[in-house]
Amino acid sequence: MKVGLFFGSFNPIHVGHLIIANHMATHTDLDRVWMVVSPQNPLKPKKSLARDYDRLHLVRLGIGENLRIEASNVEFDLPQPSYTVDTLAFLQEKYPDKTFALIMGGDNLASLHLWKNYEHLLENFDIYVYQRPGVDLSSFASHPRVRVETAPLLDISATYIRDCIREGKSIRYLVPEAVYNYLEANTLYR
Ligand code: ATP
Repeated sequence: MKVGLFFGSFNPIHVGHLIIANHMATHTDLDRVWMVVSPQNPLKPKKSLARDYDRLHLVRLGIGENLRIEASNVEFDLPQPSYTVDTLAFLQEKYPDKTFALIMGGDNLASLHLWKNYEHLLENFDIYVYQRPGVDLSSFASHPRVRVETAPLLDISATYIRDCIREGKSIRYLVPEAVYNYLEANTLYR
């Protein structure tokens, strides 16, 4: 089974993230997509970053019932900061029967050379890239391990959603209904 890992802080998850996850889970040879929630760095808690388990809960609510997409908290218990290459090594050991791949936006691909052991990542893992507006695909795009996907894009960010919540503006339809209902009923991001 081939699993694509989509990393993010998901603070909170929004439909832009889910459209990418669903595209990768249904338009490529990936059997599953795991949305890996990045933990808060205990040494530098960021005021605007909701607690790990709140964000994980929202990712689960956002995905809803879907056999191909799952939330993952694998990085919560790994040493921090968690580097992708280390998380992959851990997952490969824990799930020897699965093949892991990475999902990232063209913006991330362009700065891949700054990642820990990026040559090892490129040699050993398929990387599924979706284009982002205004970002030129770097020379990595022609690497045999890199597959460029054209997925539908929405110009939404979690920052925008947090700003809306703080200003008392509606975020309806920007996040899945279950996430919307949860955020309406809670003080998260207020
Ligand atoms: P923030 O505004 O807090 O920085 P974000 O919405 O960009 O958050 P992240 O949790 O950082 O969300 O996103 C996880 C991954 O999804 C990142 O690689 C990010 O580039 C990508 N991403 C974020 N928003 C979108 C979007 N609208 N469409 C496609 N990809 C997105």
